[in-house]
Amino acid sequence: MTLAKKHNFKDKVVVITGAGGVLCAYFAKEIAKTGAKVALLDINLESAQKFADEINAQGYIAKAYKTNVLELDSIKQTRDAIAADFGTCDILINGAGGNNPKATTDNEFHELDLPPTTKSFFDLDKSGIEFVFNLNYLGTLLPTQVFAKDMVGKKAANIINISSMNAYTPLTKIPAYSGAKAAISNFTQWLAVHFSHVGIRCNAIAPGFLVSNQNRALLFDEQGNPTARAHKILTNTPMGRFGEAKELMGGILFLMDEEYASFINGVVLPIDGGFSAYSGV
Ligand code: NAD
Repeated sequence: MTLAKKHNFKDKVVVITGAGGVLCAYFAKEIAKTGAKVALLDINLESAQKFADEINAQGYIAKAYKTNVLELDSIKQTRDAIAADFGTCDILINGAGGNNPKATTDNEFHELDLPPTTKSFFDLDKSGIEFVFNLNYLGTLLPTQVFAKDMVGKKAANIINISSMNAYTPLTKIPAYSGAKAAISNFTQWLAVHFSHVGIRCNAIAPGFLVSNQNRALLFDEQGNPTARAHKILTNTPMGRFGEAKELMGGILFLMDEEYASFINGVVLPIDGGFSAYSGV
């Protein structure tokens, strides 16, 4: 029995943005096993479609929708299509997000003698910073505006946002992503309060450092030894290892499930092997 089969979301409509990506595709596949009807939204339709097909092939219910979380018209069109296919949204997972190299410094610290080719804080590109803030913050706020309208007054409706370790203490090199994820934690609390009279709970998870096929090569050398950055992460993770996508699933299902979490509203749940609790000393 998988973890998901312990939860029953039969006939609930679960809308997941960024579901063509690594984490949210995994969430979609597991949530579909609970009997939910899962809508996989992504700007990359091909990727979302591939995962929806996999879910359908296993006999569960899912459909992919090309959606740009930064365009209200696109989100509204998807909302109408989902309403016609499955019914209106019960649970929204705002997963679309990410960083951009134009908003990333080359070095952890500014120094007096940096080579002129170094991309320092002073070289960060305004368009890259806007991209990161828009994708993470507006890309959570706009889908919430569209889908939460249908969730008002529904039984057991809730929203889950994806924050990050950056929200607690910024990581070096990525000031825009850190600020945008701090804004997501803040917005999660704001929504929890704002919708508390109309039955929509809102919570977030803050994943720690995970290994995926996408970042494996950055974290480990060919012999499987941690790279310098990976070593730093592991040294600062009390449990001394990376997490895996499947270890986020318990937190997601727990927060989604009214039987377990009916009075949990406005929390950001770290799933991080203790990283956010550790000062490093
Ligand atoms: P990912 O890059 O694999 O997936 C992100 C998805 O969002 C992609 O499929 C992409 O096409 C989609 N997307 C991008 N712009 C979009 C837009 N405008 N409209 C609709 N879809 C759009 O990322 P991931 O690692 O699966 O991360 C998912 C979420 O978790 C993100 O919010 C990320 O910031 C957060 N997160 C990830 C980690 C991690 O270790 N992977 C850690 C902390 C937080």
